[in-house]
Amino acid sequence: MIQLQSVEKSFSGLHAVHPLSLMINKGEIHGIIGTSGAGKSTLIRMMNLLERPDKGSVYVNEVEMTALKETDLRKARQNIGMIFQQFQLVMNRTVGQNVEMPLELIKIPKAERQKRVEECLNFVGLSDKIDAYPAQLSGGQKQRVAIARALANNPPVLLCDEPTSALDPSTTSEILQVLKNINETFGATIVIVTHEMNVVKSICNRVSIMKEGRLVETFSIEPIGVDLNEDHYIEDLRRIA
Ligand code: ATP
Ligand code: MG
Repeated sequence: MIQLQSVEKSFSGLHAVHPLSLMINKGEIHGIIGTSGAGKSTLIRMMNLLERPDKGSVYVNEVEMTALKETDLRKARQNIGMIFQQFQLVMNRTVGQNVEMPLELIKIPKAERQKRVEECLNFVGLSDKIDAYPAQLSGGQKQRVAIARALANNPPVLLCDEPTSALDPSTTSEILQVLKNINETFGATIVIVTHEMNVVKSICNRVSIMKEGRLVETFSIEPIGVDLNEDHYIEDLRRIA
């Protein structure tokens, strides 16, 4: 489903990602974990060619992304949703208009767009916020809107770069539940970059560990479920306090 073959990326002489290969199977929830600067964002951004690898090939759904010209690449990207830590919503557009954006780009007729926007917002439990502006929403609600927007094209692949890092543990659980529902309902392949082990443990079937631009290890795990225990959270807070 997603195949990286000997991809590598440098920024002004600094190797952000050393040559590595990785296969992510269809329907899998794949976690990529590692400390800050390990190359996680660079790696996930190479999957949809937001970062073009210096060398190597990227295949998504049997399409060789690295062989595509810009117009075809834009088309191929419609099959790959992406969400970010800071949500990246357009602040002067309503929730509904944000979700509508990818559908406008591919010139879906208005009535059909409207229907799809309602479906996607319903899926993330935000139907009542369709006319609200992002500034009126909580962080968790903003991330739900970003997810609804990523889902608008019904993409078989969803890339998530630190989707819960700006959220508290109970909101994190809610967002992870939404991601799990997407995986189960649509069979979407999901990649989640995170530095939180809890996130990996709760929903990932496989995990890759990155360190200093290298893939250290990839292995399968048994997800334990999204109920990141509130008591745990309070204990964590006590430890910090
Ligand atoms: P974090 O957990 O802090 O988000 P990360 O694992 O996502 O870190 P990357 O953002 O992939 O790490 O960065 C890997 C390395 O590449 C870092 O040293 C970073 O400074 C560098 N880097 C990333 N993007 C660029 C860029 N556009 N220009 C220059 N250097 C970059
Ligand atoms: Mg990052």
